[in-house]
Amino acid sequence: MPQRIICSGCGYVFYEGNTVKSPNDVIKEYGGKCPKCGKNLKFTVDSVEVRGYQNR
Ligand SMILES: [Zn+2]
Repeated sequence: MPQRIICSGCGYVFYEGNTVKSPNDVIKEYGGKCPKCGKNLKFTVDSVEVRGYQNR
């Protein structure tokens, strides 16, 4: 199932795709903060949301 990782602060999509990634890895790629709202992203599931979604 495709995966989507978004900022819990502003909804910015960090990652979207068919490969299941660790939120920690994605957060690291962004240097630990959201490029849109500047929210500091801790390496916890509280800071980002990981959702499966259906492709139409
Ligand atoms: Zn954000």
